[in-house]
Amino acid sequence: MNKDIATPVRTKEILKKHGFSFKKSLGQNFLIDPNVLRNIVSHAGLSEKTGVIEIGPGIGALTEHLARSAGKVVAFEIDGRLLPVLEDTLSPYNNVTIIHQDILEVNLLEVMEEQFAEYEDVVVVANLPYYVTTPIIMKFLLGKVPISGMIIMMQKEVADRITASPGTKAYGSLSIAIQYYMDADVAMIVPRTVFMPQPNVESAVLRLTRKEKLPAQVKDEGFLFEVSRGSFVQRRKTIFNNLQSSLPEGKSKKEQIIDALNRSEILPSRRGETLSIEEFARLSNELYADFYKERKGEKS
Ligand code: SAM
Repeated sequence: MNKDIATPVRTKEILKKHGFSFKKSLGQNFLIDPNVLRNIVSHAGLSEKTGVIEIGPGIGALTEHLARSAGKVVAFEIDGRLLPVLEDTLSPYNNVTIIHQDILEVNLLEVMEEQFAEYEDVVVVANLPYYVTTPIIMKFLLGKVPISGMIIMMQKEVADRITASPGTKAYGSLSIAIQYYMDADVAMIVPRTVFMPQPNVESAVLRLTRKEKLPAQVKDEGFLFEVSRGSFVQRRKTIFNNLQSSLPEGKSKKEQIIDALNRSEILPSRRGETLSIEEFARLSNELYADFYKERKGEKS
């Protein structure tokens, strides 16, 4: 087996050889601990039949571990300076494709068809650039990209918000948007010392697994997330007050909000943070006719 990229000595060697300097604005904190990498990969359940999408391969620390266990790895890297580095460090692996592109600009459904048609399942494994964690996850989920799961390193505080349960301080619209599609749990907590350079925050590896069945049927998923976001604008306010200020024309349609809350069997005096996903789903379905249907262009 080849020498691991992710040791402090080898990483420094590679950076020096290619004259590479970190760009903080791109969230470049590279992993320098092979044990953490082995642990991440063990949570991904990889085999020859698995395809992997990696976001931000950096100098290839995680990519090589993925290449050793998966059938194929397709990695998207925004920083063109890293392409010659990756060509060098990943030269022993013939099952890796590096694409120079911002992941937020990628047509993921096309990637699934073109790159992974013959694989049994596809997972996302990444040490994410922290400045775009949420948009990246939501791009996969809202875009209905048929991946079976994600194993992703992120800021611990964001992982806590994603996995939070109703009634806790961390619970909010992000917990709802992600838990609507995926089961979420923290697979491991990771200290700053395993990165170069060290980030200012603690990190965690989050495991997202696709739910067999969505927790509720909704008329429109976008509107469910709009209602849940609007219910947390001011956390200390009641759901009724938050919806009045956040829904379009909410102030002049108080009656309709109260009626919808009643039909959903939710007390207007409750706070957003006490509502389960199923309750938000019921509520968004009841608000739909008065607050969304027309915007969506449906006739009543
Ligand atoms: N995977 C490497 C590791 O674990 O050592 C590097 C991880 S580093 C936290 C994040 C990587 O994502 C960097 O290489 C950065 O250049 C890249 N990146 C940042 N924004 C990106 C984007 N929008 N699309 C693709 N890659 C991005």
